[in-house]
Amino acid sequence: MENIGTEKKQAVDYKYVKKNYFDVADESTIKSIFDFAEHYKAFLDECKTEREANDYIIRKAVEQGYSEYNFGDTLKKGDKKFITNRGKGVVLFKIGSKDIEKEGVRMVVSHLDCPRLDLKQVPLYESDGLSFFKTHYYGGIKKYQWTAMPLALHGVVYLKNGEKVNVSIGEKENDPVFYISDLLPHLGQKQMQLSAKEVINAEQLNIVVGGLPVKNKDEREKIKASVLQILYKEYGMTEEDFISSELSLVPALKARDIGFDRALIGGYGQDDRVCAFPSLRAIFDVDNQHTAICLLVDKEEIGSEGNTGMKSKFYEDILNEICRAFNANACLVRQKSMCISADVTSAFDPNFADVYERNNAAMLSCGVAMNKYTGSAGKAGASDASAETVGQIRQIFAKSNVVWQTSELGKVDIGGGGTVAKFIAQLNIDTVDIGVPVISMHAPYELISKADVYSAYTAYKAFFE
Ligand code: MN
Ligand code: MN
Repeated sequence: MENIGTEKKQAVDYKYVKKNYFDVADESTIKSIFDFAEHYKAFLDECKTEREANDYIIRKAVEQGYSEYNFGDTLKKGDKKFITNRGKGVVLFKIGSKDIEKEGVRMVVSHLDCPRLDLKQVPLYESDGLSFFKTHYYGGIKKYQWTAMPLALHGVVYLKNGEKVNVSIGEKENDPVFYISDLLPHLGQKQMQLSAKEVINAEQLNIVVGGLPVKNKDEREKIKASVLQILYKEYGMTEEDFISSELSLVPALKARDIGFDRALIGGYGQDDRVCAFPSLRAIFDVDNQHTAICLLVDKEEIGSEGNTGMKSKFYEDILNEICRAFNANACLVRQKSMCISADVTSAFDPNFADVYERNNAAMLSCGVAMNKYTGSAGKAGASDASAETVGQIRQIFAKSNVVWQTSELGKVDIGGGGTVAKFIAQLNIDTVDIGVPVISMHAPYELISKADVYSAYTAYKAFFE
């Protein structure tokens, strides 16, 4: 346990380095903070997967006068365009008045994928009066957190005939939900001795999907058969169609205000939709001189792999295409460009104070947090932004009165994490991590401050200008 006396002596005066945004904001800003939060919660509730977020973003972009871009199209100043990457990620761009060869472009990159439980390709089985789905978890989760809570099923299935079917069960009030069992404490003595990693192992993350047998004497697996009957009736799918599906279990919970004063928001998937949403709103609202590019990518949680992750050539191709459209040298454009890697960081949690180093931890409600570097143990795997880049960002934020703070994930040598920053920096683009501090990151229900998501919006907007 920490000694409170010692803690007090070590505590810094946060007034000089960190300001509580609620504390310093005037009445109209407070109102903007709370109004913004309502839109953000609606976004969280509508978008539980990257595909759903992709569709939401495109719908909003079209409302804002954006039109679809295809590789090879011509472009002109003032154009507002979007392009989807296979329905799992979107790039929006708004061509500014400044010469991209001289001034570069301004990019904000966030990710739309979140930790969840994906179905295996042969998921359905019956055992002892119940039927289940087998899962393979996606991203870094504490497996025990996903048991004994309502789960919703989201995704797509491609039927044998090639038809695409969208699935979303468990979000509406009258929908059924799904469930992973945990052991009763009465019989859990042995389980409670296990390490948290083993309390629930990956092959125990089996989803209860049925319990009603079909009335058919000849059927061997009656409960599995009844689930298949329903899937056929509702979606026209057969057991074999799971092979060409992407179905995920996510918490069947809505985003809610947390606390008597409603300062905070609890919700699923806030890493990284809490940065995606303000970046989207920022590009919509900004009157930009620079060419602004908002990238909302997939697969960050599993290493930015594949053709929809940040490592995909897709994103570099877009930049090259914008250069080509304006006869600009892509090398020069990249060299002059700047990028914010908009991903969450860990917020100081007084319940677990010993993993944080107070002077360099992000404090909840003190604004969007800049991690000059991420990585772990000796900055391994970090894209360490230069003092020059940080200096430029400081000036941009100061000019627009952005309330922000610096941060490092936790104590040195205690753990670490990475973001997409290094993959963008590799393209010879100055990149720095700036995102919203989160408590209980990667848990089924994560906690953020309304002040911080609004601060992120003001920060990204100032940067795009
Ligand atoms: Mn993230
Ligand atoms: Mn994450």
